[in-house]
Amino acid sequence: MARYTDPVCRLCRREGMKLFLKGTKCFSDKCPIEKRNFAPGQHGKDRKAKIVGYGLQLREKQKAKRIYFTQEGQFRNYFEKAARSKGVTGELLLQQLERRLDNVVYRIGLGVSRRQARQLVRHGHIQVDGRKVNIPSYQVSVGEEIAIREGSRKLAILELAKDFASHQNSPTWLEIDRDNYKGRVQSLPKREEIQQPVNEQLIVELYSK
Ligand code: SF4
Repeated sequence: MARYTDPVCRLCRREGMKLFLKGTKCFSDKCPIEKRNFAPGQHGKDRKAKIVGYGLQLREKQKAKRIYFTQEGQFRNYFEKAARSKGVTGELLLQQLERRLDNVVYRIGLGVSRRQARQLVRHGHIQVDGRKVNIPSYQVSVGEEIAIREGSRKLAILELAKDFASHQNSPTWLEIDRDNYKGRVQSLPKREEIQQPVNEQLIVELYSK
């Protein structure tokens, strides 16, 4: 699947809810969901029928993919790995999404959005246990320290991100040291610690057909 390049606010409008993809804008009155909470496109306003069954399962999958900015193939791989593992498939699926390095960089407060956090990773500003890692999908493990590289500490976006993060709930599975732009994985995230508006069971049902 091609990388999504259209305005991301359309994704929220398509799902009919805030997915918080644009950082500070999401909390301002510039958020399009505040003014135009209907699907984008010519017939967006007409799509009012209640979605059930397959349509509902599909929407849940799309929502999760969009929140974490993953593509279909990668998302499917997460599911298949979760299904092969011991445990609750839906929870393991969400856990893998949450353990992505770009998500953890965002959760620690080094970026105002997952997209910005992904850029930081891709551009080589992030290190894991003192080693540069520029793969956004890298899965963090318990005990690992995720930090901004020493030479990247002067990036202007870091101050903004720190301020933004100070108004957000901190994830309990990460030990965060905002002043030093770093965090450590204390434990793997449990379902109750992943506060996303996603019904993962519907995604499991979709892929299990
Ligand atoms: Fe979604 Fe944020 Fe855009 Fe609002 S501003 S539509 S929450 S991405």
